[in-house]
Amino acid sequence: MKVVLQNLTKIFPSRDKKAGKEVVAVNDFTFEIPDGKLIGLLGPSGCGKSTTLYMISGLQKPTSGKIFFGDDDVTELSTENRGIGLVFQNYALYPHMTVKQNILFPLQNLKGADKLTKDQMLERAYEVAKLVQIDELMERKPSELSGGQQQRVAIARALVKMPRVLLLDEPLSNLDARLRLQTREEIRRIQKETNITTVFVTHDQEEAMSISDMIVVMKLGVVQQIGKPQEVYDDPTNLFVAKFLGTPPINVLSGRVENGRVYIGKDAIMDVKGVENQEVIIGIRPEGFELNENGALRCEMNNVEVMGRDVSIVSTNPASISPCIRSIINADNKVDLANKTVRYNVKPHKVFLFNKETEERIRYEVK
Ligand code: ADP
Ligand code: MG
Repeated sequence: MKVVLQNLTKIFPSRDKKAGKEVVAVNDFTFEIPDGKLIGLLGPSGCGKSTTLYMISGLQKPTSGKIFFGDDDVTELSTENRGIGLVFQNYALYPHMTVKQNILFPLQNLKGADKLTKDQMLERAYEVAKLVQIDELMERKPSELSGGQQQRVAIARALVKMPRVLLLDEPLSNLDARLRLQTREEIRRIQKETNITTVFVTHDQEEAMSISDMIVVMKLGVVQQIGKPQEVYDDPTNLFVAKFLGTPPINVLSGRVENGRVYIGKDAIMDVKGVENQEVIIGIRPEGFELNENGALRCEMNNVEVMGRDVSIVSTNPASISPCIRSIINADNKVDLANKTVRYNVKPHKVFLFNKETEERIRYEVK
């Protein structure tokens, strides 16, 4: 089921009627979520991810704009009639019910033509329990389960009505690091097996990048960029997106373009064609540096962190806007800490230029 968001906007009135300003939580969001795909809705806290999800679910009504499931306009439809499955961060299971009763619960309220017999309900419940691998735990109470198991129950409960769309709001945030990794792989597997169009909300860029077919990056209610994770990482539209994706984060420096060359201080780090002379913000991905004793960019060596296969060289440069410059270099390179200066050449496709005022990307041809 494709999901179409058309100029979706949500404005919350000010809580303090006199002093406060209204909040534009989601601002003119237009996007067609393709059928059967997993979309990662990504951005810092407060950027409007949950509000977008709640509008798709029907829990919140848009101030303006429309939502379609397939060709059906569902904008005015109640949550119960949209055929969605919802999973929240805090699992929200009924504590006094067993796992089985929790999963059965949504089926017991089905009415009319959708009504199921007891045997049909049980069959469905065991089917989804198997899918999320909790069929051995059906008689337990939620308090007798780990966080990861509880979240699987919540996912099973969301899937049991065979929703047209699955909506997940930070479903992994309450899990510890290892379980988070494992559960996100599980969610991806389940999504692929069921082929349900899924919207996955998270503030964690790595999480979104690793499981999404496409990501939507939001800031202050406004969509910044939509694309495949790798495409957005390789080709960010502005400084915000460049900074939001990637660990370690992109290095940000101030510099200038002069007669077709990019300068950081006195160091000319690369040539660019067709860019006017101007001051710029320069972003260099950590993997965009090459150690070279005659390298164009000179930095002051601080520290070398061993990461196994790679090393991370921490250095400083007067032009750096980030507190330090972090490069990721293959550990085969010998790095001499006794050197005060570390010199790099940069890989042009790992360097982005941004307008100093608007922070929008400055485009040029990369050879
Ligand atoms: P996110 O999920 O990305 O953290 P939200 O969608 O929850 O962000 O919130 C977006 C913005 O809308 C925030 O500024 C938040 O304070 C505001 N907001 C959310 N819900 C309400 C509400 N019910 N009333 C007023 N403001 C709200
Ligand atoms: Mg939220």
